[in-house]
Amino acid sequence: MHPEATPGQPKPSPYFLAGSIQASGSSIPVVAPKQAAAAAPQQGTSGAVAAAAVAGAGAVAAPRQPPLAARRLKLSKNELVSSSVTVMFIPIAGVIGSGAACPSTAIPLSTVASVKRAVFEELRPRGVTVGSTFKRCSYNTSRLTIYGTAWTFDKCDFDDLTGYADAAEEVLRRRGYNPDAYAHKCSGPDDCRVCISADFWTTPNAMAHELGHNLFLAHAGAVSSAGVFDEYADMSGIMGYCCSDRCPNTPHAWQLGWITLQEVNWTSLVPGQTLTFNINSQSLSRQTGLRLTDLPGSDPVFLGYRTRAGGDASATPDIAGYLGGPGRLHIYTANITNTWDSEETTKQATLESIGQSWALRLPGLVVRLVRASNTAALVTLCRRAGPETLASCQAGLDNDCNGKAGSQDAACQLLLPRRARAAPLKRTLRGL
Ligand SMILES: [Zn+2]
Repeated sequence: MHPEATPGQPKPSPYFLAGSIQASGSSIPVVAPKQAAAAAPQQGTSGAVAAAAVAGAGAVAAPRQPPLAARRLKLSKNELVSSSVTVMFIPIAGVIGSGAACPSTAIPLSTVASVKRAVFEELRPRGVTVGSTFKRCSYNTSRLTIYGTAWTFDKCDFDDLTGYADAAEEVLRRRGYNPDAYAHKCSGPDDCRVCISADFWTTPNAMAHELGHNLFLAHAGAVSSAGVFDEYADMSGIMGYCCSDRCPNTPHAWQLGWITLQEVNWTSLVPGQTLTFNINSQSLSRQTGLRLTDLPGSDPVFLGYRTRAGGDASATPDIAGYLGGPGRLHIYTANITNTWDSEETTKQATLESIGQSWALRLPGLVVRLVRASNTAALVTLCRRAGPETLASCQAGLDNDCNGKAGSQDAACQLLLPRRARAAPLKRTLRGL
């Protein structure tokens, strides 16, 4: 705090706009030293303390600053780490067979009760405790509290939900079950416990979704037509909205290690060249979609093909087509790099009719569905090179990635001499 601040007696402050320092990156006017002294910051507002210190530093750097001149400085403030720090202290004594302490340790010198009194402010309101340190040093913004608030069936807030789960675990332990033996917990405050309301107790998708979180999956989202991202809006996977039965989407199934994808590097695509890939139905084969990496300015692109079979036998037609018919090609972007990388996925498009395409304007990718059956799809990837030229037309390239090359492209028909129209370059078939 500034040495001349007067705790408890805030003074009127014409140059000091305490209200403007709340948001991160906002700025306040800095005043010369005399004004800074007169403009005593209000006690207990951390921003005021920081601002007063800044004012003092400013005085050193700019001693001739006119008294009333105000300069704006950018302030930096982080998100509060946590307003409530619930903590469990576990005193441990390491003892060997003879009853002595383990080498280089000691038998406990304090009782559990005295440790508690050193930690919890509630048990020692007038002394210094860990709790009082948190309270005072954080200006009462981060409170350390005794874990385990009383729970009731009256409020149904998170403490209550945790209370029910604790009580249920106690009963299980008394019956000889060991909840600690279940590995897929996470480090959240509630061990990633999930509360599923009674309406969904017989809904497999609701439970599969929640277990997906325990296996490090984030949500499966999509961007609405209004341009708003909705983290649940991808219905092609279990991590989207409830409740139709279906498999994880292609990026998530890949994250889980459940499927293998063809991996293509963007730099391996020659501009104007079209590559064709066979994509087995993910509903029928573990060797399935495609992952396109190293796209400038974009997360990796995933392609997945789904049909009404296997784990998708009950999927809706918009996800997997109709029974016995062609499926649906889904295109996603996702920045997932490994099994434990909880990243949301974004569904970009679904292609269902032959010739339909999806383009990523930058860096100039066009994905086109060229064939679809109830077992696999044929898909092309094209890297845009610009408009067609005489040279591209003669070479049979598809510079504009419209799916046509050489004399088949209307743009080339205007460029090519009548008798010298080149046949389109045979496309390269790759992959499985
Ligand atoms: Zn969820």
